[in-house]
Amino acid sequence: MKVVPLGTSSGKPTLKRGLSALAVVCEREWLLFDCGEGTQMQIARAGLSPSRLAAVFITHLHGDHFNGLAGLLGTMGLDRRSQELTVVGPVGIREYLDTLARLRTLFIEYPLVLREFSAISELTVVYEAADFAVSAHSLDHRVFSLGYRVEERPKPGRFNLDRARELGIPEGPMFGVLQAGSPVKLDNGRIVEPKEILGPERAGKSVAYCLDTRPCASSVELARGVDLLIHEATYTNDLTEEARQYGHSTAAQAARTALEAGAHRLLITHFSTRYPDAAPLLDEARAIFAETALAHELSEVFV
Ligand SMILES: [Zn+2]
Ligand SMILES: [Zn+2]
Repeated sequence: MKVVPLGTSSGKPTLKRGLSALAVVCEREWLLFDCGEGTQMQIARAGLSPSRLAAVFITHLHGDHFNGLAGLLGTMGLDRRSQELTVVGPVGIREYLDTLARLRTLFIEYPLVLREFSAISELTVVYEAADFAVSAHSLDHRVFSLGYRVEERPKPGRFNLDRARELGIPEGPMFGVLQAGSPVKLDNGRIVEPKEILGPERAGKSVAYCLDTRPCASSVELARGVDLLIHEATYTNDLTEEARQYGHSTAAQAARTALEAGAHRLLITHFSTRYPDAAPLLDEARAIFAETALAHELSEVFV
C-alpha cells in the first residue's frame, strides 16, 4: 500500500499547498480521501488513473475537503467512465449532487453508489473490496466529521518452493491452487494441504485518516495499531485554545493520539496557512512521537 498526499493546506489554498485530499493506492485500485478544490489536477500530476479510482471518502462537508468532488465526478463523466464509483461521506452529498444534476451543471452517467451517514457510534465497515476493507467512526469537529481506517486483508503465507519440490509437486497450476488456500492431489494419491507449503499468514497493512478533529477517543480507536496514521495538525501547541474552538488538533495532540493508539508512524497534514514552513509542527510532534513525518504533496509514502 502507498499513500500520496494531494493537498495539505487547511481552509484555503496557498501557492505551495492545495486543499485536503489524499490517495491510498492499493494493488489493483486506489481510494481518495477528501476532495478539496484542485484535487483532479493533483491526481493528474500524481499519475493516478481516474479509471482505477474505486471509491471516494469525504470526511465532512466543509468546502476545503469537498469542493473538488463535483469537478472530479464531472471529468470522469467526460472521460466516459463506465465502471461503478462509490462515494462515502456525511448526509448532504446526495442533495448537493442532485441539485447540480437538476441545474444541469453535472452529468454522471456511470453508476454512482452513495453511502451517507449522519452518525456512527462505533467503528463500522463502510466499504469492502477483495483486498481490503474501509471502516469509519465519527470524529469531533464543528460539524459531523468521519474518520476512516483502511485495512488490507491478511495475505497468505510465503510459498516454500524447496518444500514443494521435496514433496514432488509439479511446477504449474497446482502451485496456484495451494497458494489460493486449497489442497491438491498428486499422481501418487498423496493429498498436500496448503499449510504444508505456505508459511504463516501475513498481516495486511493498515492506514487511518483522521481529519478534521479535536483529539478524541474515536481517532485513537481508528488508529489502534495502524502502520500509518494520517492526522491533522492545523496548529502548534501555543494555539491549543484556537484548535479547541475551531474543532482542530495541534501537532502535539496528533502525536499524542498516535502514541496512545500504538500507531507505528504518523503523517501530519492540514497545516494552517500561518505556517509557510511547517518545521515547527514537525518538531513539536516529533518531541512526543519520533516516527512523525510532514505530508508533502505528491510524495509517495510506502506503508
Ligand atoms: Zn479542514
Ligand atoms: Zn473542517
